[in-house]
Amino acid sequence: MPAYNLHTSISYLKGVGPNRADLLKSELGIRTFADLLHFFPNRYIDRTHFFKINELQHNTAEIQIIGTLTHLKTVKQKRGSRLVATFTDGTGTMELVWFRGIKWIKESLKLNVPYVLFGRTTFYKGLFTMAHPEMELLSNYKKSLQKGMQPIYPSTEKLTNKGISNRVISKLMQHLFAEIGTSFSETLPVSILRKYAFITKKEALLNIHFPQNQVLLTKAQARLKFEELFFIQLQLIRKKLIRKAKIKGFCFEKVGDFFNDFYKNNLPFELTNAQKKVLKEIRKDLHSNAQMNRLLQGDVGSGKTIVALLSMLIALDNGFQAALMAPTEILATQHFNSITALLKGIPVKVKLLTGSTGAKDRKAIHQELESGELHILIGTHALIEDKVKFHNLGLAIIDEQHRFGVEQRSKMWLKNTLPPHILVMTATPIPRTLAMSVYGDLDISVIDELPPGRKEVITAHRFDKNRLSVFKFLKEEIAKGRQVYVVYPLINESEKMDYKDLMDGYDSISREFPKPEYQISIVHGKMKPEDKEFEMQRFIKGETQIMIATTVIEVGVNIPNASVMVIESAERFGLSQLHQLRGRVGRGAEQSYCILMSSFKLSSDAKTRLSTMVTTSDGFKIAEVDLKLRGPGNLMGTQQSGVLNLRIADIIKDAHVLKSARGEAISLLRTDPTLQLPENRNVKIAYLETSKNASIWAHIS
Ligand code: ADP
Ligand code: MG
Repeated sequence: MPAYNLHTSISYLKGVGPNRADLLKSELGIRTFADLLHFFPNRYIDRTHFFKINELQHNTAEIQIIGTLTHLKTVKQKRGSRLVATFTDGTGTMELVWFRGIKWIKESLKLNVPYVLFGRTTFYKGLFTMAHPEMELLSNYKKSLQKGMQPIYPSTEKLTNKGISNRVISKLMQHLFAEIGTSFSETLPVSILRKYAFITKKEALLNIHFPQNQVLLTKAQARLKFEELFFIQLQLIRKKLIRKAKIKGFCFEKVGDFFNDFYKNNLPFELTNAQKKVLKEIRKDLHSNAQMNRLLQGDVGSGKTIVALLSMLIALDNGFQAALMAPTEILATQHFNSITALLKGIPVKVKLLTGSTGAKDRKAIHQELESGELHILIGTHALIEDKVKFHNLGLAIIDEQHRFGVEQRSKMWLKNTLPPHILVMTATPIPRTLAMSVYGDLDISVIDELPPGRKEVITAHRFDKNRLSVFKFLKEEIAKGRQVYVVYPLINESEKMDYKDLMDGYDSISREFPKPEYQISIVHGKMKPEDKEFEMQRFIKGETQIMIATTVIEVGVNIPNASVMVIESAERFGLSQLHQLRGRVGRGAEQSYCILMSSFKLSSDAKTRLSTMVTTSDGFKIAEVDLKLRGPGNLMGTQQSGVLNLRIADIIKDAHVLKSARGEAISLLRTDPTLQLPENRNVKIAYLETSKNASIWAHIS
């Protein structure tokens, strides 16, 4: 039995004193032997090849050479001094230099003994030079575990400054293996190991830190990535099963008059197949005795509102109230207006509650809500104020959840004895595999089809200097009776500048489109809600042809006659924002256009974003490009999800691994939900170990 085990504090490891232990903990979160063992390199340098000095090229990157030191001298310079050595391997000579730690280095170097030298070369005055090379006596090198591929561990500036170099970490790793041996227990079931031809846990850990060659390294990575994602999925799926078993919900047993009358008499169009499918999924949840927690994903314009309304009518049919919460006042008002219009002739009482609802109306709403007289309440954050008490809230729908935190979600829960069913709607498309791991505890429905008859929005990219021809085009469209949006970016830190851009734009458009022939609306974040609403209404009624706005119109407004979207400084918008904005047009029968204006100078990411917009309108494709450009960290929800805390797997590059890991986790829990079977003993032990890491999962519940 080794003296130490994986739970031993890292401070007991050879080479780690109290200072280093503190640094490892604060910088890398490494507290125990196990933490260090699972601290994986993020890249490797191929050290299977040894160069000869006469082979060196000017552009050779990191190289290793075997040779000996023939001379050592200290050269005085303006400040301090440098140590210079001559190094030869029989094919030529090169120079080694040190600027720091000279005294110590000079004492430790030996002349005329073979070394393995590693580092970057530069070519200067006819000589190859290497500054601060890594050096190891050839005799030691031959003894060490370190062969073939050299791991490079992630590091921080502080660690480097405090002398904890990659070399030090590699040394610690060697000590670690020397202390604990390599008898790591297997964590995956034999069936999975066989099916995927995975190497054992032991081989994998050894080869991730000390890969003997590229083939073994690749095998080690494949296995460890799978394992990491497998245990995350196991956690998420178990959470979901437990939630389903334990969290009781209202059972909506019937579909009654509200729903049926509406469906028969008021539904203005036939539902798309995707809408029908999603509605079926929701209905099933609503009479399952468990609380629904469903995420409804559907691209802009895919028709989520009608699904929301039909779901609310089911709640009403069962004697319950429903709520619809939107992130902005404009959007809440829009929902209220369109839902009221849709419900014409159906005896459903709907009201709107926002920050600007007057005291008198507010009081009436509170009363009707508590008495149960009010059926549906639509609104903004105002809905979750303490004073708002539902008589019996059966279903809460949250539109565009990325504007709301998880916290708000849970606040809505507190109003009832049993939690209401929750439907979260979002237009931000997330690649499905990613959605599964980010929202693993939610059920997901997708509307993956647009209503028929939509013409694809024609998208073009134009430079600022072509503005006149763009204006000409706008005039032609307006002459046909269409309406136009012109949107300016608004990014908080530089609000003043953005505001100026908007106002300058307003001036120049006012000049180009003079009254009385043209009427212009303007809406921005600094306006009072009633002024915004007034300007919106003028545009909605068709009294104005041009709507100049900051991104306030980003979410949800629906004005089918608006057929042109001009986005100013489009290079400053993110892809998903551009996609959302474009979704504001193309809602009516007319051919619609999106014009992306930008300056001539563009970063390569900006070019990719704009060309992606021009070439595709598929929200999922766009989301994937976005994900590649920005990484999952910027995607909504990922911060809290633990997806970012992955040690080795990459949620984008390893999407296929995620898929199989999820599949295996599901089938394992299907046959053995509590991990009782003897063949799953390994899994259970490792599962309990990972569940201890509660911080990752703290947000889910
Ligand atoms: P979003 O998913 O972006 O919230 P909306 O619910 O606002 O989309 O719907 C966009 C537009 O499409 C609305 O004008 C709506 O009336 C219309 N629409 C929704 N479903 C259908 C359908 N099945 N057939 C035709 N038009 C539809
Ligand atoms: Mg919507």
